[in-house]
Amino acid sequence: MGDTVSVSCPHVVYLGGFGRSGSTLLERILGAVPGWVNVGELVDLPRSVYPHRELCGCGERFTDCPFWSRVGQDAFGGWSDETLARLAGLRLDVARQRQVPQLLRLARGGAPGSELARRVAAYQEGYGRIYRAVARAAGATVVVDASKGPAHGLALGLSLPHGPGKGYTLGMVNLVRDPRGVAYSWSRRQVERPQSGTDPRPMWSISASRSAAQWAALQTEMALIGSVAGVPTRRLRYEDLVARPRRAVLELVHGLGLPLPDGGLDHVGEHAVTLAASHGLSGNPSRFRHGRIELSADVEWQRAMPARDRRVVTTATLPWLMAYGYPPARPRGTEPHTSSRAERG
Ligand SMILES: [Zn+2]
Repeated sequence: MGDTVSVSCPHVVYLGGFGRSGSTLLERILGAVPGWVNVGELVDLPRSVYPHRELCGCGERFTDCPFWSRVGQDAFGGWSDETLARLAGLRLDVARQRQVPQLLRLARGGAPGSELARRVAAYQEGYGRIYRAVARAAGATVVVDASKGPAHGLALGLSLPHGPGKGYTLGMVNLVRDPRGVAYSWSRRQVERPQSGTDPRPMWSISASRSAAQWAALQTEMALIGSVAGVPTRRLRYEDLVARPRRAVLELVHGLGLPLPDGGLDHVGEHAVTLAASHGLSGNPSRFRHGRIELSADVEWQRAMPARDRRVVTTATLPWLMAYGYPPARPRGTEPHTSSRAERG
């Protein structure tokens, strides 16, 4: 794969996984490799970034950012309501979770002349224009897309048997985090989104049981995308990324078979990374932190997660905990105080 990527046919590294798993961090680390560029959660471009004039990672409004203006001009002769409404509409047709079984069938050569196949081709054509324009604007051969959703990634990554080719290649990185940590993060109070532009809604919170069920469904989909749809998929644990970022990223890039120039990971230390502003869109508020960033695992959940929530999530995700090397039982010394009820509020 390392020989075939080019500015005119870039390789897309698609970060698939559940929210609050460190995808914004990984996306920015990868996007800082020379010859690589990160675009944030591109799936949000038609559905929130453009309609609400959200902030780009560079601090400019999307519509004022010179980088994205150049990309829009190159891809579509300029961004327009029509172009983005068309992509948003196609997403509802082809890239929702309920469409995963049909997309898997399509990826295996089923229903090649179907309406779904036609719409997937149109979706890939639209995103292909954006990916290639991004690669040209950045002088990059690898585009890192942190959109996260498996269905969207599958729709963009599957190969249609009789199509003209996508004009890009796509592989997935399944970034996983201990589902107890994920559930705890989602259960906490709402987080402001500094990029939200004209949309004042904060990031929302969800219950532990719902988070666990969604996490399990998502991991099942990621596994099927790798094994059934034939989209190359690598898994990386958030805990390994923050504990040993340099080793984790090096292994990941080698595993993806992508070019890594000499000194390409100079920004990744043993326990910290140095990140400049990028043009990544949407995602976690940490997108707007720059400079040297010390990394450490966010393990507050081990101490503060209510025991009942912990049991619910552990039970619902047990096969994956075992498969991914997450201890089901509570480590010694992290028992919560019996008076910690107030933290459930
Ligand atoms: Zn920008």
